[in-house]
Amino acid sequence: MNLIKKLEENKRLNLKDGLKLYDLDLLTLGKYANKIREEKFGRKTYYNINRHINPTNICKDVCQFCGFSSSRKNPNPYTMTHKEILDTVDKSIKNGIKEVHIVSAHNPDAGLEWYLEIFKKVKEKYPQLHVKALTAAEINFLATQYNLTHQDTINKMVEYGVDSMPGGGAEIFDEKIRKRICGGKVSSDDWINIHRLWHNAGKKSNATMLFGHIESRENRIDHMLRLRNLQDETNGFNAFIPLVYQRENNFLNVKDYLTAQEILKTMAISRLVLDNIPNLKAYWVTSTVKLALLSQEFGANDLDGTIEKESINSASGAKSAKGMACDEFVSLIKNSGFVPIERDSLYNELN
Ligand code: SF4
Repeated sequence: MNLIKKLEENKRLNLKDGLKLYDLDLLTLGKYANKIREEKFGRKTYYNINRHINPTNICKDVCQFCGFSSSRKNPNPYTMTHKEILDTVDKSIKNGIKEVHIVSAHNPDAGLEWYLEIFKKVKEKYPQLHVKALTAAEINFLATQYNLTHQDTINKMVEYGVDSMPGGGAEIFDEKIRKRICGGKVSSDDWINIHRLWHNAGKKSNATMLFGHIESRENRIDHMLRLRNLQDETNGFNAFIPLVYQRENNFLNVKDYLTAQEILKTMAISRLVLDNIPNLKAYWVTSTVKLALLSQEFGANDLDGTIEKESINSASGAKSAKGMACDEFVSLIKNSGFVPIERDSLYNELN
């Protein structure tokens, strides 16, 4: 069937279709992505009031794209104490956060119990606070270090109060590219399987894709299709989050510059190919706020949250270190012609 006919009739798209979508002009692509966004969400755009905490940047891995972990490019190792983490949560609660998002480097000295104790202490003090924590990459690292299965590790997370899993560590699933950019990290199959186990435990998660480095367009569509397959099976993903690669302070040395057109096309194609993941998040931290706002016209219905402090992408050049004030966030969404809706971490509407 002809591609435009498939788009008109909302037919499921395959790898070839996904690649051909990149050949459409930006506005045609935007029209079809926006049509689906409008059908599902009208002019609503979701955001949440959250706090990111990255307890340590000491890492046994050396992912080539990473500017966050302490290395010869970033000789500033730190590990927060539990008290510092709790003090941070205390302060953020006063700012109205509903979610704490805890992800870290793979620190061989930290340990699973160290993390579990954090989750327990946060949950004991603030039972209403949603704890989103540990990427599939961290789960794989901790399980390997403690000689546990992924299932055992997930059981412990649930027991100690983790509510949902973030989507990090997916990077790009293609095995050849993955080996070049993050060879020591969780394999693609294990990343998928850890999310499968998490969904089978009755929990929700998100999924990311890092793009704009050395991957091809085909690698991106392949990545989306692997996620779509798992979503068909479990329906456990809340949101897909395409992350724009940040150029500074890492080892990848990418020569090409990603254009705004390519970012917007990738957003729109994500909306069209991932027909079973409800929310498409334009993560302003990596795309810039202006492009995230524009992404609302290209399928995105979620702009993430206020974050308060961002350490991972800002270490590689993103202008996100201080997060964003809630009133500014709301005003920007309104002024761009959309209706800001505060959501909780599971996409229930709050305000
Ligand atoms: S991306 Fe994560 S695992 Fe890779 S080097 Fe950075 S902190 Fe470590």
